[in-house]
Amino acid sequence: MYTVQEICKNGEPVPLTTDGQLRVVFIGTGSAFAKRRRQSNILIIQGKHHVLIDCGTQGPLALNDIGLSVLKVRTYLPTHSHADHIGGLEEVALMNRYTPNAGKPQMIVLRDYQDSLWSKSLSGGAEFCEANQGRPLQLADFFEILRPDTTQVEGRKFWSYKHGPLDIVIMRTRHFPDTAVSVDESQWCCGIMVNRRVWISGDTMFDRDYPLRFGTLAEVMFHDCQLFFGGVHASYQELMTLPDDVRAKMFLYHYGDNWDKPDTWVNDSDDFSGDPVKDGFLGWTRQQVAYDFP
Ligand SMILES: [Zn+2]
Repeated sequence: MYTVQEICKNGEPVPLTTDGQLRVVFIGTGSAFAKRRRQSNILIIQGKHHVLIDCGTQGPLALNDIGLSVLKVRTYLPTHSHADHIGGLEEVALMNRYTPNAGKPQMIVLRDYQDSLWSKSLSGGAEFCEANQGRPLQLADFFEILRPDTTQVEGRKFWSYKHGPLDIVIMRTRHFPDTAVSVDESQWCCGIMVNRRVWISGDTMFDRDYPLRFGTLAEVMFHDCQLFFGGVHASYQELMTLPDDVRAKMFLYHYGDNWDKPDTWVNDSDDFSGDPVKDGFLGWTRQQVAYDFP
């Protein structure tokens, strides 16, 4: 069973190690354009190992909030190319390459996604940084690449990477364009399952099969949640259609700045209150606390 621990007491930095328990820290819980909750980037820590899931435009700021920096976080796993998920990676790349003795950070990334992450997003600011470099720099010049293997969960193809005690399963999600009816029609985007205990949806439209499937495996789920219907995220109203026992394991994150003013987004015709605890969820995911799994 998980516990919720306060961290950053008295301004102390969040340790990037644990006494052995799996720890999940949302350094932000807000939507792409949130101003109050820093977007949704997530630290996963166990023992001596850690991974930062996504580092968006506000990622370096969110790390600074908890006493960390892109020089302290050593391993990154980008889920997809929206700026609230990768907009901070240029800072990661350049700060680490050009700070003396910083060393090369690691990136867990699939080969196919590596190519588009670099050629369509990161190369613009990083490819030609050095006057006498002789060739365009590549992602592997900035990051040590860690490559997931293909795996199967209940007969379906996924990818997995073992980072010390962290067993990370990566699954494609249906995020964008909004017309995509399958993951194959979608741009690369993924969610993750950690140690077969914690499922994090990643950015995704409502895809009932995933919470139903992982709801039976996971102890706790964290699900992308948008406060209105439509677009490229799962809406609160769609998540309300999940069975009670699935919602009862689910925290909601990636929420807009008006999450705590339900009168601005809950309609008279809706059969929910806008308070996720009253509506059968575990609640809004909290920023800057540790969800610990002993
Ligand atoms: Zn996105």
